[in-house]
Amino acid sequence: MQIERIPTLRDNYTYLIVDPATNEAAVVDAPEVDPVVDRIEALGVKVTKILSTHHHPDHSAANPALAQRYGAPVYGYVSDAHRIPGFTHGLEEGDTISVGELQAEILFIPAHTRGHIAYVFPDAVFCGDTLFSAGCGRLFEGTPEMMHAALNEKLSRLPDHARVYCGHEYTESNVRFALSVEPGNRQLQAKMDSVRAIRAHAGSNWHDAEDVEMTVPSTIGEEKATNPFMRPNSPEIIASVQMQAPGTPTDDVSILGAVRRLKDSF
Ligand code: ZN
Ligand code: FE
Repeated sequence: MQIERIPTLRDNYTYLIVDPATNEAAVVDAPEVDPVVDRIEALGVKVTKILSTHHHPDHSAANPALAQRYGAPVYGYVSDAHRIPGFTHGLEEGDTISVGELQAEILFIPAHTRGHIAYVFPDAVFCGDTLFSAGCGRLFEGTPEMMHAALNEKLSRLPDHARVYCGHEYTESNVRFALSVEPGNRQLQAKMDSVRAIRAHAGSNWHDAEDVEMTVPSTIGEEKATNPFMRPNSPEIIASVQMQAPGTPTDDVSILGAVRRLKDSF
């Protein structure tokens, strides 16, 4: 399985999933056409599917143009038919899709939006704006309960080695926030050092970004060790929440909700 990371808009990731055996490819979360077409043509792959994790324009605006250009169907969560541009095929939890000989299973992970899904391949998960490296998406249409279920009941059960391909390059600011609630986490401190080193290569134009500037992917194991939204049992995070939001109950969902609110105003 070959995965191409294409920088789009200001800090978005569009992905190209390529099956080397058949030269077939799927596009994940494309907000603009040109950089995606450039990469497809440079590789000479045959696009057979357009995949959306959720309906937001920064993940789906280019669907119709790409679908028309390549004659490819557009997939998204079944109930978002009306708001995913170019939508043709609805998916639900447990469905499978193929890219050439590669197979992915669908996880339904609403919280950032009501119709958010992840595409789960054996060694790689495309999780849009639900799970970020060291962070999670804003709760535009969901609740802390829903985000907790998505992160800590579904995504956390994937293998530790599974690579996490998320929707944005937000890692450095996410790690800065994470350290503010869990400053004693050694693995998080080490992540700050490595992320700063990677981002030191970053130029001013994300469209020109090369692989050396990208902190994505991480892994599920790394997220479980460093992501404050996947660590509601951390005594240090609970203590930080109690300090900054006194009276917050210590159950997992209340802690996650409080950490999300702290991040919203960080
Ligand atoms: Zn979004
Ligand atoms: Fe987004």
